[in-house]
Amino acid sequence: MPFFKKQKIRTRFAPSPTGFLHIGGLRTALYEYIFAKQNKGDFVLRIEDTDQTREVEGAVENLLKALKWAGLTADEGILLGNDGKPSERGNFGPYTQSKRLKIYQKYAQELINQDKVYYCFCTPARLEELKNNQQTAGQPTHYDRECLKLNSDEVKAKLDMGERYVIRFKVPEGQEVKFVDTVKGEIKFSTNDIDDQIILKSDGFPTYHLASVVDDYLMKINYVIRGEEWLSSTPKHILLYQAFNWSVPQFAHLPLLLNPDKSKLSKRQGDVAVEDYRDQGYLPEALINFVALLGWNPGTEQEIFSLEELIKVFDLKKVHKSGAVFNREKFDWFNSVYIKKLDLDEFKKIARPYLEKNIAHVQPDLNLDKLFAIEQQRISKLSEIGEELKFIFIDKLEYDHKKLIWKKSDTVSTLKNLELLIIELEKYSKGDWTAEILEKNIIKFIADAGLQNGDVLWPMRFALTGEEKSPTPFEVAEILGQEKSLARLGEAIEKLK
Ligand code: GLU
Repeated sequence: MPFFKKQKIRTRFAPSPTGFLHIGGLRTALYEYIFAKQNKGDFVLRIEDTDQTREVEGAVENLLKALKWAGLTADEGILLGNDGKPSERGNFGPYTQSKRLKIYQKYAQELINQDKVYYCFCTPARLEELKNNQQTAGQPTHYDRECLKLNSDEVKAKLDMGERYVIRFKVPEGQEVKFVDTVKGEIKFSTNDIDDQIILKSDGFPTYHLASVVDDYLMKINYVIRGEEWLSSTPKHILLYQAFNWSVPQFAHLPLLLNPDKSKLSKRQGDVAVEDYRDQGYLPEALINFVALLGWNPGTEQEIFSLEELIKVFDLKKVHKSGAVFNREKFDWFNSVYIKKLDLDEFKKIARPYLEKNIAHVQPDLNLDKLFAIEQQRISKLSEIGEELKFIFIDKLEYDHKKLIWKKSDTVSTLKNLELLIIELEKYSKGDWTAEILEKNIIKFIADAGLQNGDVLWPMRFALTGEEKSPTPFEVAEILGQEKSLARLGEAIEKLK
């Protein structure tokens, strides 16, 4: 019978609160979330804050906000409360490791009693020297088991004297640790290559290894999905499970995320924080869709997936073994697809703050509906809105009047054409001032007057925008409105005179 038929699947996301939610962390959380949902299981969120030196103020809130924005809410563990502060839900708490120190100490004691671990009194200076010597000799660095030589009386004497110690795991020699990873397949490690890891630090805090194993066991996590960077920790964890006589969960290690040059995705080569993408106006649905495809694909041509669809089609067993390149252009494309999918009112609501940021002030008499409609089709992130339409918001355009003249045309005919155009455009009533009607009528007017399109439309567009490139003159006219458009055409005539 397959594993998932026997017990309820429980996955967990176990971030360390180091300041922001990394894109790679989001992908891990997404796969864990999807896998739990597919199997009607639970998705647990645990905070791994045992490395207090890396702690950043407000990091947990940030992380939870970013996850919530992305639509990934945990069923259990640390959640964002209504007051915007972290709160807990579930029967296996506390879900923050720094609040569980007694638990880890108790389990470490259990291993001490069974002689599976040992006290190590080596000073940081000695360990540093040992490491340097091994490095100079070109050897792999590892603890040399100096303190394993101490007999129980010596240990007791040192403890009585209050010497500082850590607790190390006594890694058995000459064994093979083997497991079948859902993604990577069969993985083998020799215990000879595994250092006697520290499980409890001198400040009484557990290391990641002990805390992670104890918590996964106590929280009944049976499917550990995490990034490939943790693969080398897994044999250490398996040895710990065995030492405690606990059953080992199923592991799935996800491929690394890479920069286009195949180096590990890093901040140096661009944004890696989910929050940065949110602030630039990427949509959560686009991010989820894009990130889901980093390391997995459905094996069909389909690229656009909602979270619900992903829950139906995602297959953890088909996650790729090798690294996935984070391609920013592709992400932009996904985002533009999702921006186009929004209905105009929704788009206006979310894009307006970005527009207000990009331009000095939004004049009330402009037809912003048209502007939003045009920009919705053009931009790939909300922060781009209005960037190429700055001319709309300028009171008086500055440009070289010679640029109003189309190719082989000249000042005199350009002037005449613009004057004829003004006469034509003054006839409009307000309701007719739409890009569509303007286009139909102006093209007809040009033909009736026996003129060439370029000789009228170029100076019209340039007079309205002062730019070499822009949306069509009809669209620009609609956004500007009749009065402003006529004013700009008038100003062009003045410049030409
Ligand atoms: N706390 C680790 C991290 O920050 C979690 C590793 C794991 O999932 O076991 O990514």
